[in-house]
Amino acid sequence: MKKEVVTRFAPSPTGWLHLGHVFAAREAWRAAMEAGGRFLVRLEDIDGTRVRPEYEAGIFEDLRWLGMTWEEPVRKQSEHWGDYREALGRLEAMGLLYPCFCTRKAIQEEVARMGQAPHGPDGVLYPGTCRGLSVREQEERMAGGEGYALRLDVAKAVARVGEELRWRDLGRGEQVARPEVFGDVVLARKEVPTSYHLAVVVDDALQGVTLVTRGEDLFEATHVHRLLQALLGLAVPEWRHHRLMVDENGKRLAKRDEARSVKSLREMGWSVGEVLGVVG
Ligand code: GLU
Repeated sequence: MKKEVVTRFAPSPTGWLHLGHVFAAREAWRAAMEAGGRFLVRLEDIDGTRVRPEYEAGIFEDLRWLGMTWEEPVRKQSEHWGDYREALGRLEAMGLLYPCFCTRKAIQEEVARMGQAPHGPDGVLYPGTCRGLSVREQEERMAGGEGYALRLDVAKAVARVGEELRWRDLGRGEQVARPEVFGDVVLARKEVPTSYHLAVVVDDALQGVTLVTRGEDLFEATHVHRLLQALLGLAVPEWRHHRLMVDENGKRLAKRDEARSVKSLREMGWSVGEVLGVVG
């Protein structure tokens, strides 16, 4: 029997939805509907400083207006810290995490000292300054109240998995995972027991998502997600990374482009058909 297709649209309630979101939502919606599957919405609201209740309400209002329906209850990441803590604890027990006390500035200074540093999709890779701290120093600094991030020791994690990992992108085909592309990624912070990377793999697995559709800006992140799935023994979905909507100057649409928010287009009298038509 063929597996049921489960997709999701996972916006962060940190701004009004814009045409890029409409495109992303429709990709997920369409993939589910064409396969007779299920479409989920998830609120990625771990960044408490930027989340606002009106944006959250706006997401549902816009999707409803666009004619989409989704399963209730909607998963809100901020209601599931325990799930992320549990996953983090397992990685910790495997000895794959280390606290990193570096500020952004300290990292920049270290990189400058090195003269040349390896780059990843987001810029220079973390140079590993805190990877070799002794347990005693880690404990002392934590006890002293310093802020820290928990980073994944990617080389150790890859060695632990011990085999080449692969994943499938429906557009670009079979991929060999390169989990080291971002270096030692941050998986949590002192005050927040998850980062985007950890929450997304935990959620997709818990929600039974079988096809992750999302923008191609996250293509490289999938290498890291595949590694986390292998470490945590989670089911591996398929992916489809789709193109991003750009403005007339070729710039990617962003939340600050208020004029292109679904809300303002609706208020200006655009019809659903017109909005969906622009998305193409
Ligand atoms: N919350 C992410 C975004 O708004 C989506 C992440 C994902 O689909 O994995 O871009």
